[in-house]
Amino acid sequence: MRSKGLACTPAVETVCARCHRMILKGLDEGWLARVEPMPIGDELAALATGRRTYELRAGQLIERTWDRLATEARGRIHVEHVCGGA
Ligand SMILES: [Zn+2]
Repeated sequence: MRSKGLACTPAVETVCARCHRMILKGLDEGWLARVEPMPIGDELAALATGRRTYELRAGQLIERTWDRLATEARGRIHVEHVCGGA
C-alpha cells in the first residue's frame, strides 16, 4: 500500500553529480529514485544484477517491489542508475 503524506515528485531529467551522465530522478514515497533515462526491456535481467527497477507511471518513478513484480507494469521500466554503468 502506498502511504499518504510521503513525498512523490515527478521524475525530471538531470545530470548525475558524480559521473555527469543523464539520469532521471524523483522522489518515490520520500526515497530519492535515480534511474537510467532509457527504458529497459528485460526487467528480470536487470534485477539479476542486483539493481532496483522502477516503473515510470504518470511521470513518477515507482519502485518495482516484489509484490509489484507479480503484476505486469503498465508504464515503462527504468533501472536504477549506477555510476559509470550502462
Ligand atoms: Zn552517476
